[in-house]
Amino acid sequence: MRNLTSFTKMYESERKELVEILKSRGITNQRVLDAFMKVERHLFVPDIMKQHAYKDVALPIGMGQTISQPYTVAFMTQALDPQPNKRYLEIGTGSGYQAAIIYEMGGRVFTIERHHDLYNSAMKIFDQLNLKIAARCSDGTIGWSEFAPYDGIIVTAGGPTVPLNLKKQLAVGGKMVIPVGDKQIQTLNVLTKISEDKFETHEVPYFTFVPLIGKEGWDGK
Ligand code: SAM
Repeated sequence: MRNLTSFTKMYESERKELVEILKSRGITNQRVLDAFMKVERHLFVPDIMKQHAYKDVALPIGMGQTISQPYTVAFMTQALDPQPNKRYLEIGTGSGYQAAIIYEMGGRVFTIERHHDLYNSAMKIFDQLNLKIAARCSDGTIGWSEFAPYDGIIVTAGGPTVPLNLKKQLAVGGKMVIPVGDKQIQTLNVLTKISEDKFETHEVPYFTFVPLIGKEGWDGK
């Protein structure tokens, strides 16, 4: 696996405590837990938030957006189950933390963010940590067709429906994890693509994400 640890090994005991919390909340995939131990969440949050980086809470990252709660990131990653050298598309780069977790697990990561400022800060941290993650600033609801099909797609903002473009860009046998609902509360949909036009969906209720805004999401006005 890749090694994203910085030289300083800061907040190591806090990371261990967070991993224990994730285990106690039902995260069992050891590869996911190992990635949480390695990826330094405090590097992905604004300076004034660093002291809270290993609490199991979402934190503001600017532009009215958040880095998701660690449990939510762990739950979604466990559902996606990223495998080494497979290709993953993330919609909603935000801080870049979720992308770094999938990268740490060996996935080839493509990520899209609609806010320029967040895209720029995520690119900066990817560069600093030498993470070979492909990122672009655009509307992720239309996907990134140049690199499709993807073995997995993870959407970290909540939309009204599953975007058709994302369904098309998922490989047969691949999984998509996406919150779907109204703007207040969503159900996490875990879709498996059985054939070109057939999906199996498993639904996990009660998650709250920032809205997915775009052509196949909510209206941003
Ligand atoms: N994965 C992020 C992380 O690890 O920090 C979580 C970020 S936040 C919960 C969701 C992000 O989705 C926000 O940064 C928001 O700007 C972005 N977003 C919303 N709609 C989008 C769209 N259509 N395309 C790309 N990004 C979008």
